[in-house]
Amino acid sequence: MGLLELLRRTRRSDESTLYECRDCGTCVFPEQEKCPNCGSVEIACYEF
Ligand SMILES: [Zn+2]
Repeated sequence: MGLLELLRRTRRSDESTLYECRDCGTCVFPEQEKCPNCGSVEIACYEF
């Protein structure tokens, strides 16, 4: 059973935008307003 794989695939096709902290480069989830790593609110988003 590839449940994890299915979830990952669904998530991937669903999200064509990548959010990343501008200060440390950490990947940030869209629902997060701050970087979980350094607390910066400077979130860059890249659309594919
Ligand atoms: Zn950061």
